Amino acid sequence: MNSNEIIEIENKYTSGTYAKQSLVIVRGQGASLFDADGKEYLDCSSGHGVANLGHAHPKIAEAIYKQANTLITLFESFPNDQRAMLMKKITALVPGLDRVFLCNSGTESVEAAFKFARISTGRKNIVAAMRAFHGRTYGALSATFNKKYREGFEPLVPGFSHVAYNNIEALEKAVNEETAAVILEVVQGEGGVYPATAEYIQAVRKICDERGALLIVDEIQTGFGRTGKFFAIEHFGVTPDLLTCAKSLAGGVPMGAVLIGKNIKNLVPGVHGSTFGGNPLSCAAANAALDVIKEEDLAGQAEAKGKYLLDKLMEINSPNIREVRGIGLMVGIEMKQKVAGYIKSLQEKKIIALNAGMTVIRLLPPLVITYEQIDQLVEALTEVLVVEQKDE
Ligand SMILES: *Cc1c(COP(=O)(O)O)cnc(C)c1O
Repeated sequence: MNSNEIIEIENKYTSGTYAKQSLVIVRGQGASLFDADGKEYLDCSSGHGVANLGHAHPKIAEAIYKQANTLITLFESFPNDQRAMLMKKITALVPGLDRVFLCNSGTESVEAAFKFARISTGRKNIVAAMRAFHGRTYGALSATFNKKYREGFEPLVPGFSHVAYNNIEALEKAVNEETAAVILEVVQGEGGVYPATAEYIQAVRKICDERGALLIVDEIQTGFGRTGKFFAIEHFGVTPDLLTCAKSLAGGVPMGAVLIGKNIKNLVPGVHGSTFGGNPLSCAAANAALDVIKEEDLAGQAEAKGKYLLDKLMEINSPNIREVRGIGLMVGIEMKQKVAGYIKSLQEKKIIALNAGMTVIRLLPPLVITYEQIDQLVEALTEVLVVEQKDE
């Protein structure tokens, strides 16, 4: 099959829920992706933050191959060596979060966290933030803010409200004795790459404690080294009651997890479950991924490379840039115009970047990106960002 045939087939048979690119990708290696003709692209999307370890990491490939030849599936009622090992490793990451629920995606981990918060507190209400993105199934969608995701799907789940992010006063007003939980991203990803302030996160923890509400931190995009720490919440010295993660947890294999603190009660058999959750194949991949993140110090790499990238981006002198912000290798470039044209121009220069909303270019490269590749990215951005985009 050539590229045109592949594109034609997908366009004919797809559900239609994706805006399709006209670029066929067939292979990846490190921070590079390759099209059907063997042309190389620099991946600054990592599949929205999945490929932190880079593509085709040999240790992930080996772990998957070995486990596929051993045991792929096993319901969590039956204990398993790979799952036990993962449970031990993942609960060692955040002191105070000593239990874990395993599932298969980000949105599922958010659903589980909401169910745990309600069953634990006996309260119904969830407070989320404006600009938040937590997923697309009904509970997670109810916490997601942007009406582009919500419209046409009402009625959503009752009990959800949204307050301004990084605004302590707004949270003071919104959280009361009927609040089961507050859910926040530590850096809002989809919403435009907005990091929380330390003061805010610490105040949120205090307000939740005072009013008996739980704190859920959504680290689905910020987790596993992305921001320069294993989890972004470590920047602030705060422990949440529930921490959701997914994306790069299993080195690219679909998997989600909720880390669970001591305040969570009433998790008894039958309260929640998942057919594929905690399957040995995903667990083996996650075990390998967590080892690689530690061995290669990917968090340290994200910190150093993120600083290098951010410094270079600050030097780009373009009247079209409104602001450059970020933490580790999670970087947003806010432009004064819509960014669709910039992202297209970058693709012509063999850089695959993401948007976050209409006016932010989002860079989430694999943490194994090389300094030469960062220079290549900066060079392309320097050329592209000085050209003013006319809004269509
Ligand atoms: C991607 C993302 C989700 C949803 O994850 P899926 O695996 O796509 O369901 C939820 N929250 C955040 C912060 C995300 O970045």
